[in-house]
Amino acid sequence: MNTLDEPLAPTAAIAVIGAGLAGSRCATALRRHGHQGRVLLIGDEPVGAYERPALSKQYLAGTRDAAELSVAGTSTDALAAAGVDVRLGAAATRLADGVIELDDGELVEVGATVLATGAAPRRLPCAPLGARVHELRNLADATRLKASLAPGQHLVIIGSGFVGSEVASTVRAAGVRVTLLEAAPIPLATRIGHVAGHWLARRWRSAGIELRCGVNVERVEPHPDGSCVQIDLAGAEPLIADHVLVAVGTAASDALFHAAWPGHGTVGAGIPVDAHGRTPVPGVWAVGDVSCRASASGASLRAEHWTDAAVNAERLARVLTGAALLPAPAAYAWSDQFGVRIQVAGRVGGDLPHQIEHDGPETLLVRYLRESGDLAGMLAIGFPADIARCRTQLAS
Ligand SMILES: Cc1cc2nc3c(=O)[nH]c(=O)nc-3n(C[C@H](O)[C@H](O)[C@H](O)COP(=O)(O)OP(=O)(O)OC[C@H]3O[C@@H](n4cnc5c(N)ncnc54)[C@H](O)[C@@H]3O)c2cc1C
Repeated sequence: MNTLDEPLAPTAAIAVIGAGLAGSRCATALRRHGHQGRVLLIGDEPVGAYERPALSKQYLAGTRDAAELSVAGTSTDALAAAGVDVRLGAAATRLADGVIELDDGELVEVGATVLATGAAPRRLPCAPLGARVHELRNLADATRLKASLAPGQHLVIIGSGFVGSEVASTVRAAGVRVTLLEAAPIPLATRIGHVAGHWLARRWRSAGIELRCGVNVERVEPHPDGSCVQIDLAGAEPLIADHVLVAVGTAASDALFHAAWPGHGTVGAGIPVDAHGRTPVPGVWAVGDVSCRASASGASLRAEHWTDAAVNAERLARVLTGAALLPAPAAYAWSDQFGVRIQVAGRVGGDLPHQIEHDGPETLLVRYLRESGDLAGMLAIGFPADIARCRTQLAS
């Protein structure tokens, strides 16, 4: 990993690439912790950081508009007031030691680079995007999806992960008919365990979602007259839908890093970092969804969750400025859907031994254990105090 164990020189110019949650929070925290050199935040979207989790929930439902999603303290005015230079609508296209090239040809000289470029939806070659075939990562995607759907229409969602199932929840409540296609036998089981997977499958079906597991999509093709889309399935009758959402996970937006410094893993799998956000390249750090973080157990994980991005951005700014470090937090994620909040802390699912503490129609509490019998993590629906205690216990 990065050999630079000392904090950066306080006057070093730092470029933070990616003006989403992690990048913006890191840039402002650098100033808050006393960094004196230039802090330049570069973002390819036309707007500053916004609450991406709301895209599949309140924004799609129409209960919050775009202006209400701005992340506190990250508007261009707030960043300028904090002493952060901002370039929005500008993509970094090439990295080299100490130089960043932007898409307008500008070269920026820096002493350190923080990569916070997030992730992008995985695409399916058999389902090219188009007027009726969507993906959901940013405000533009959400605006297009929202404008496309109307009550009574049929939406087929490929992939029943958090984004797919949250969209299913939101649009079902608005009167859209939803078919949710999942290749695995139990939805979300690899992410949050089979107990929660079964629980959610029951909840979705009782809310009127047509959930089909063990299904492989062979082809998604818009009708020649543009009126609908046909979804061909392996070994089953084709489906006809008004729109399709492809929600089959994400790939890290790490191509810049791997092009500049090959040999540190696979494009899309994330930028390898240690617990402090250091990459193997001196002077380069990564944080948020783009980073693949080494854990104490030696396993690497690309967390793709809001709280992890925020907490690790703050921790990275402290590392870079030499400020006191906070204790490493336990991984944490939530998902709001079908009238409940799913909360996950620490490690859950997989082969970990588990105890089902509560399993009711509206609530679920599953505790996951290490081989030693110590707590590894918890999955909870309707038990916020237990999750809070679990997070505290795991952090310490
Ligand atoms: C629809 C949706 C719902 C979600 N719901 C939840 C939830 O309920 N709970 C939860 O915990 N998490 C949720 N998440 C995940 C959460 O939003 C992310 O973990 C978080 O946004 C990660 O922040 P980030 O800053 O790392 O990446 P991002 O927010 O993706 O920001 C990265 C930014 O970098 C920009 N960028 C990329 N490449 C370049 C480049 N070359 N030059 C300049 N800029 C670049 C991108 O355009 C983007 O603006 C959700 C995500 C989505 C998409």
